[in-house]
Amino acid sequence: MAAPAPAPAPLLRVVAECARSRARAGELRLPHGAVPCPVFMPVGTRGTAKGVTAAQLDALGCRICLGNTYHLGTRPGPELVQRAGGLHGFMDWPHNLLTDSGGFQMVSLVALSEVTEEGVRFRSPYGDEELLLSPEKSMEIQNALGADIVMQLDDVVSSTTTGPRVEEAMRRSVRWLDRCIAANRHPERQHLFAIIQGGLDPALRTKCLEEMTRRDVPGFAIGGLSGGEEKAQFWRMVKLSTERLPRDKPRYLMGVGYATDLVVCVALGCDMFDCVFPTRTARFGSALVPWGSLQLKNKQFAKDFRPIDEDCGCPTCQGYSRAYLHALLRSDTAALHHLTVHNIAYQLQLMRSVRESILAQRFPQFVRDFMRTMYGSRDKYPAWAVEALASVRIPLD
Ligand SMILES: [Zn+2]
Repeated sequence: MAAPAPAPAPLLRVVAECARSRARAGELRLPHGAVPCPVFMPVGTRGTAKGVTAAQLDALGCRICLGNTYHLGTRPGPELVQRAGGLHGFMDWPHNLLTDSGGFQMVSLVALSEVTEEGVRFRSPYGDEELLLSPEKSMEIQNALGADIVMQLDDVVSSTTTGPRVEEAMRRSVRWLDRCIAANRHPERQHLFAIIQGGLDPALRTKCLEEMTRRDVPGFAIGGLSGGEEKAQFWRMVKLSTERLPRDKPRYLMGVGYATDLVVCVALGCDMFDCVFPTRTARFGSALVPWGSLQLKNKQFAKDFRPIDEDCGCPTCQGYSRAYLHALLRSDTAALHHLTVHNIAYQLQLMRSVRESILAQRFPQFVRDFMRTMYGSRDKYPAWAVEALASVRIPLD
C-alpha cells in the first residue's frame, strides 16, 4: 500500500506581525524562489510589463509579476507558449508568475460576452467565432502557461452593482471554484487561489468567505473591489474579509495600487497587491514620489536638473534629470520607458520599507511618517484612511 502523500508545505511563512494592527511580514514559498511579502506585483501584458523588459524587472528586485491570460491565451495561444517552455521561458523570466483566469478581461474588454453556468461566452476579438471560457478551459490555459499562482474563474460583477445579480455571481463563483480545483492538473506547482466575491454586501461577502474557506486552497484573493465604490465601503469590505480569512494563508487584494491604499490595506492584513496604475500613469507622464506625483510634462520641470526623487536608487533617477525627461516626453517614447521603470521601482521600494518596518516592530510609526510625507498636514489626510487605520489601532495625530 502506498504511503499517503505528505501534506504540501504551506505557501506562506509569517515572519513577523505588527503588535497593534493586522499587518504582517512574511515569505511566499513559491516554485521559482521565495517572495518577501507584503508584495506589489507589476502587471505584464503580452509577456512583459508595458515599457519594461523582464531583465529590468529582475534588476529592480521584482520576484513575482502578473501574466495576462486573456491576451496570452488568445495570441499567441497557450500551445505556442507551452512549446516555448511555458510563460517563464516565453518571457525569459526566472522568477515567479501569477496568471489571472482571463474572465475579467473578457467581461471588461469584449462587448459581446454572456455569463451562464457553463462559463463566459464571448466573441473572439480576432474573428467571428464564439469562444467559451469555462472554469475547465481557464485552468487548461493557465496550466499550459505554467504560472506559479493561478486564479479561479469567477463570475465578476462591478463593485457598484446591487440586487440579486450580486448573490447569483457570488454563489456561481463558489461552484466555479470547485470546478477549478478539480481541473487544476498541477496543484503541486501551480497554486490555485480562490476569489472572494459578494460585492459591498457584508452578509453576502461573509457567506462567500464561509463557503470558500471551507475549501482547501493555498491562498485567497479579495475580488470585486476597487471598481469605483466609495472608499468608506471599500476598506470595510477589505477588513471584513481579512478578519475571516485564515491567518496562515496569503491574502491577495486585487486591483489595488495607490500608495495610500497599499499602506492602509497592509494595516488591514493584506499580503499581495497588483494594479496597472503605476505603469499606466507613467504613460501619461506622471512620476510617483513619496509626496504624491510629478507631472513631468509641466513647464516647471524644463530647467529642473534634479532627479525625479533624490532618494530613489532606480536607473532613471541615477541617470536622468527632470529637465531631461521633460524634454524627452515631448518627442520620444523612451521617456515613458524611464518613467515606468521609476514607478515600478517606487512601488517595490514602498513595499520593502513597509516590510522592514513590520519586522522592526515600528509599522505604526512608519504609517504616521508615510501619511505626513504624502499629505503634508493632518487636515489633508483622506477621512477613509484615518478611519480605517483607527479601526486597527493606528491613530493618526
Ligand atoms: Zn527613481
